[in-house]
Amino acid sequence: MKVRSLLVLGAQYGDEGKGKIVDLLVERAQVGTVVRFNGGANAGHTIVLEDGRFALHQVPSGILHPQVLNLIGAGVALDPIRLVDEIGELRRRGVDCQNLRISDRAHLVMPWHRVLDGHLGARLGTTSRGIGPCYEDRAARVGLRVGDLVDSRGRVDLEHFAERVREVGAWKNRLLTRVHGLDPLDLDQIVSECTEAAGTFAGQVADLCGVLEERAASGHPVLYEGAQGALLDVDWGTYPYVTSSSCSLGGCAVGLGMDPAPDLRLGVVKAYSTRVGEGPFPGELGDGARVRQHGALPPGTPLPQPDPALRQAALAGDEEAMGRWLRLAGAEFGTTTGRPRRTGWLDLVALRHALRISGLNALAITKLDVLDGIPTLRIVVGYEIRGRQTTSMPSRVRDLAEARPLYEELPGWSCLGAATCFEELPSQAQAYVRRLAELSGVPVRVLSIGSRRSQSLFLPEQD
Ligand code: GDP
Repeated sequence: MKVRSLLVLGAQYGDEGKGKIVDLLVERAQVGTVVRFNGGANAGHTIVLEDGRFALHQVPSGILHPQVLNLIGAGVALDPIRLVDEIGELRRRGVDCQNLRISDRAHLVMPWHRVLDGHLGARLGTTSRGIGPCYEDRAARVGLRVGDLVDSRGRVDLEHFAERVREVGAWKNRLLTRVHGLDPLDLDQIVSECTEAAGTFAGQVADLCGVLEERAASGHPVLYEGAQGALLDVDWGTYPYVTSSSCSLGGCAVGLGMDPAPDLRLGVVKAYSTRVGEGPFPGELGDGARVRQHGALPPGTPLPQPDPALRQAALAGDEEAMGRWLRLAGAEFGTTTGRPRRTGWLDLVALRHALRISGLNALAITKLDVLDGIPTLRIVVGYEIRGRQTTSMPSRVRDLAEARPLYEELPGWSCLGAATCFEELPSQAQAYVRRLAELSGVPVRVLSIGSRRSQSLFLPEQD
């Protein structure tokens, strides 16, 4: 795989399996640098190795490769306390994180952001990690940045940071108490917690513009890693049920401070669809409202498994059972929150929209194995909205909520097995993948048929 730079984006509602694909491509394309350019601790990227599962939130997915430099770009909303927890957990597991650098321009997620997100974010189904309020403050030009906490020589700047916290925090405390009727926050405690956290990573803070320029010239490809997915993009997603950052190619340029010019622009897409939280979801299987009411799985709880009765009900045409089956077979519970994900058939209208807004030129399809044993598969190929058929993504969520999906049906397969190349897949699975490439208009370059690195197939480049 010969490329100068690569972009890896979610082409659905997030949770497509980007972490695995990034980790895989790092090796395959001999990537020298991985950069995260948007989102924050609301992301959860999972990488499964022979010796265990790594859940990454703010740290880029190239961290497990010591020769790769991992950059947290200016477009990321960085939570210093959570970053230290994440670095600590990685260190406990033998990943030293010396290959991590953090942009001095990244905005800081402050405790008031988390409190406000928890208080106001439920309406949109946010993760309550404070990301939305942090980006709001960025746009309102009252945000604190990493450079307010750590000076240009990589030292924690207590005096400057305390001044900024007092200035912004006094106003935030008025907002919390007078507008929202909440308790005020202890600003001295915030200063002490954040500066203590910054002690762990201060030496790794830098102006990444120069670093990126050097890395891009080094001869090893740079990989730009997006968080969330195209349909959660603040401008192009299912607004207002979106995240607060740009999850598309445009967001990549903004979040880096350079022209990314990626020659491979890969959209990661699950072989079916999932969505967390609120928002319209054409092709959804079962009752999303009921799924949303289910509580999150407490940390450490073993994932529930599908049983034969559920399978039987799903195969008998019970849509709700099919939705549950996909959720259980695909382990569709949030990496960050443990929340159950809503499930549905793959939506080609939405996928084509995702490809268009970022000029994506290739696909990685994940979780093909989860469809094992479903005799007939469906793909959404159009919507009917109040009697009118369309293949375009409507901008109004109300229209999308009313959209009746138009399906194409394809035969399923019984088991993908341990295929080592595309030709070893069952013919129906090959046909499914070919049809997705045909309908989306871009080639499929990677197929993932299990969570492990070894369960991946690379397809040859096509003209
Ligand atoms: P991300 O945020 O896009 O990186 O996605 P997540 O990490 O939230 O979710 C992807 C989940 O699917 C992780 O638990 C992965 O280990 C798992 N996964 C990735 N690819 C595959 C696959 O092809 N098959 C199966 N069964 N699981 C996969």
